[in-house]
Amino acid sequence: MDNCIFCKIINKEIPSKIVLENEHVIAFEDLNPVAPVHILIVPKKHISDAMDLEEVTDYTYIKEVFKAIRKIATEKGISESGFRIVNNCKSDAGQTVEHIHFHLIGGKQLGKMVD
Ligand code: AMP
Ligand code: ZN
Repeated sequence: MDNCIFCKIINKEIPSKIVLENEHVIAFEDLNPVAPVHILIVPKKHISDAMDLEEVTDYTYIKEVFKAIRKIATEKGISESGFRIVNNCKSDAGQTVEHIHFHLIGGKQLGKMVD
């Protein structure tokens, strides 16, 4: 998609600190980390948000997202201590990038999730 910042990261038009990449997903460091580990896992297909998951094949990407999360959490040493996976959907959740993504946040004791 034109003008999508995450599509541009996927297409290497803008730089990012990539931690994992394969056919289906890319994962990179969040620009403004809220914890020692804060990585965004992003399907390589432009899907806007969770409500835009329509086609059966879209769920292939979600499966790959969670496989990537397990791999990264293990590599980052937080598979036992734990972590949070966050997906913001649309405005009330504060979604700022309209390309579905999952925050993997950990490496410290996290506070309550919802204010
Ligand atoms: P959300 O608010 O759930 O849409 O999350 C968007 C996230 O993308 C925020 O945590 C931003 O810090 C992050 N972000 C925005 N632009 C970039 C970028 N160019 N590289 C890495 N992370 C980014
Ligand atoms: Zn996109």
